[in-house]
Amino acid sequence: MKEIVVLGAGYAGLKTVVLLQKKLKDSIHITLVDQNDYHYEATDLHEVAAGTQGVSRISYHIRDVIKPRITTFIQAKVVKIDPEQRAVKLAGHDDLLHYDYCVIGLGFVSETFGVPGAEENAFPMTNLKEASAIYNHIISKMRDYRKTQNPDDLHIIICGGGFTGIELAGALVEARPSYAKIAGVTPDKIKITLVEAATRLLPMFNEKLADYGVDLIKESNVQLLDGSRISKIDPGTVYYKHADESQDQSMDAGTIIWTTGVSGSPLMKESGFDEKRGRVMVTPHLTAPKHDDVYILGDVAAVMPPDGKRPYPTTAQIALAMADYAADDIATRIKTGKHEEKAFVYKSLGTVASYGNTKAYGTALGHELRGYPASVMKKIIADRSLMETGGLKELLAKGRFDLYH
Ligand SMILES: Cc1cc2nc3c(=O)[nH]c(=O)nc-3n(C[C@H](O)[C@H](O)[C@H](O)COP(=O)(O)OP(=O)(O)OC[C@H]3O[C@@H](n4cnc5c(N)ncnc54)[C@H](O)[C@@H]3O)c2cc1C
Repeated sequence: MKEIVVLGAGYAGLKTVVLLQKKLKDSIHITLVDQNDYHYEATDLHEVAAGTQGVSRISYHIRDVIKPRITTFIQAKVVKIDPEQRAVKLAGHDDLLHYDYCVIGLGFVSETFGVPGAEENAFPMTNLKEASAIYNHIISKMRDYRKTQNPDDLHIIICGGGFTGIELAGALVEARPSYAKIAGVTPDKIKITLVEAATRLLPMFNEKLADYGVDLIKESNVQLLDGSRISKIDPGTVYYKHADESQDQSMDAGTIIWTTGVSGSPLMKESGFDEKRGRVMVTPHLTAPKHDDVYILGDVAAVMPPDGKRPYPTTAQIALAMADYAADDIATRIKTGKHEEKAFVYKSLGTVASYGNTKAYGTALGHELRGYPASVMKKIIADRSLMETGGLKELLAKGRFDLYH
């Protein structure tokens, strides 16, 4: 019986397990490892950070979707992958895990790009615990304000105006009235600032759509400092330099959140894979170039489009598509000894960015969408991905047919 070890129960890892359980039934054993005993939808972390969604609405227990007859779940931190020995080391476990096939889906970590103080003095938002910590901190600052009357307690700075930072700004705007109530002020006193080095925001969209997104930010009373490169972060202070100015400026805030970018898990480098920022350029069958029994999926992988110069952006959408392919390829290899005839091909369904609960914009299935219809589409996409990993049971359990929570 073949042993398949799956590392990470995110979009890529968990969907691979769910599919393999269906495809191969009794002819395999799967060991799934994750540091948590739950799966979370990373695409909604900004909502947990702002408090517009609860933790339980975007996460569920891994044991809800595994079939114990075929799959063993181990809650542990992966500390090393040794592709030469076909073995995986887990923290707190003396025995190594040995595999015939290994699927790596260890996801992303925050990237500080070496900005001094970013790691120590700004909140990252790359997993459920970090997102919850941001929310708890914002609320404690709002409470502090009642005693201190210090306006900095009401100020939230988002460092990085990419897709994630902008979606976070929208969720914070949505939550503004509830923060104001806690602080005992009017909502306009809650100051939100977005600092971004680039001057053209939302480069994944055409200019009109990107302008629409920028207008939403400005209309919602968020201070947008574009063309402003962050140089340092001290406790409670962000230093930045605008392209037109020679000197650094600074701003104080009770809450500083870091969303400038992410890289793949550092374990890829530590395990000796040939990687760049934690991402390994995979083969057409999504395996490691020198280790054909190791599949590398999701944010730890780099996949080059056929005619492109840069890899596809890492998204949940491509992570799920990679899981589809990897499960097919593993099943075919176990049955025939050969890879799937066709290589992995990715067809993006589009990208939709949310701005709060009822506004969004983007492209889906070749159509441009804005406003309310776009926000419906965004929720349908999220529900589809929940359905693909958790199944109908989780979709119903989360009450997600109610699109407007
Ligand atoms: C706020 C935000 C909004 C986003 N919006 C979108 C969007 O609209 N559309 C879209 O397609 N993408 C979006 N993304 C990107 C998307 O979330 C990621 O690309 C996706 O989560 C990657 O999936 P993955 O399976 O590779 O990893 P993940 O979903 O990150 O899962 C990794 C898993 O590995 C586990 N793990 C990590 N390290 C270890 C270890 N050492 N030991 C054990 N377990 C470990 C983690 O606990 C986790 O369960 C967004 C991301 C963020 C942060």
